[in-house]
Amino acid sequence: MLQDKPHILILYTGGTIGSFEDPESRSLMPVEFSQLHKFIPELQLIDATIEVVAMAQPKDSSDMQLDDWRWIVNQIEKYYKKVDGFVVLHGTDTMTYTASAVSFMIEHNQKPIVFTGSQLPIGKIRTDGKENLITAIEIAAARWDNKPIVPEVAIYFEHTLYRGNRTNKFSAEHFNAYQSPNYPALAQAGVTIDYNFSAIHSADRKDTTFFYELQNDIAVFPMFPGFSKKLAQHIFSMPLFAIVLHTYGFGNAPILPWFFDILSEANSRDVIILNITQCQQGSVQMGKYITSVELQKVGVISGADMTLEAAITKLMHLGGRYHGQTSRIKELLQQSLRGELTR
Ligand code: ASP
Repeated sequence: MLQDKPHILILYTGGTIGSFEDPESRSLMPVEFSQLHKFIPELQLIDATIEVVAMAQPKDSSDMQLDDWRWIVNQIEKYYKKVDGFVVLHGTDTMTYTASAVSFMIEHNQKPIVFTGSQLPIGKIRTDGKENLITAIEIAAARWDNKPIVPEVAIYFEHTLYRGNRTNKFSAEHFNAYQSPNYPALAQAGVTIDYNFSAIHSADRKDTTFFYELQNDIAVFPMFPGFSKKLAQHIFSMPLFAIVLHTYGFGNAPILPWFFDILSEANSRDVIILNITQCQQGSVQMGKYITSVELQKVGVISGADMTLEAAITKLMHLGGRYHGQTSRIKELLQQSLRGELTR
């Protein structure tokens, strides 16, 4: 691509940015893009060719399903050669899951795929949606030396660009809704957009490949003081492909012999058990405390500093792609595939 004027595809999936109040229920409901368009006359002024593809039924992102992720990836695949970059308009609630999933579903990505949305609908005077959308388009269109500056799956929100699979939503209330505690921001938008070049992944030249198989026989088991043996037995005896053990601190769990027996039995049935910390910042370090030594012995593997969203979607992707190859999947879980963990 890369003609004079960048060509950007907006994928509209719904979310608050495109919601209006239903007159009867007074609840916010996403509407079609055509209704949204008239609130953003600025789109005509942007120096880029903009095309829009909208989901047949735009939705609140809490309603997103795996087929919706596949729809997004499929649109990206269809337009991949034709456009220079993508902006995905998405609800904020599960944006970090979708951005993480899309990052794994596209291997050797070479184009900007920038997710954004807003905390207030575009029709509200104080909306944050306009700035988010306009700057996201600018970032998706930005080039240096005729190459895209951010060939990554990213989230742009409230003046900051993040690597998508490093983020979590920490505020339902503030415009500044996302954080990336274990990886620096990719850019800050002020009067100019300051790119953090050393943090941005540089596109490799290998062929881009799109993957659609996702394995969702997954559970998350959160540690909380006093969890019952009955609960643990129930979850770990299920015929699951993988369980995320959501642990304390550096990846710690209580020293309960019956719990280790349960984990060991699941591990012997090839259920993958991935250790992710409940802490927003920092990394699992199994063996640092006595309370994680035994986890290592029963086959639990470290998820390092991955977010819960990255861990779940990486498991889904690897389980779909390498079905039945448990040791290969365990090996890849501990490697950085899309910059989702620090090694
Ligand atoms: N519930 C909305 C959604 O995730 C929230 C938002 O977009 O801000 O679609």
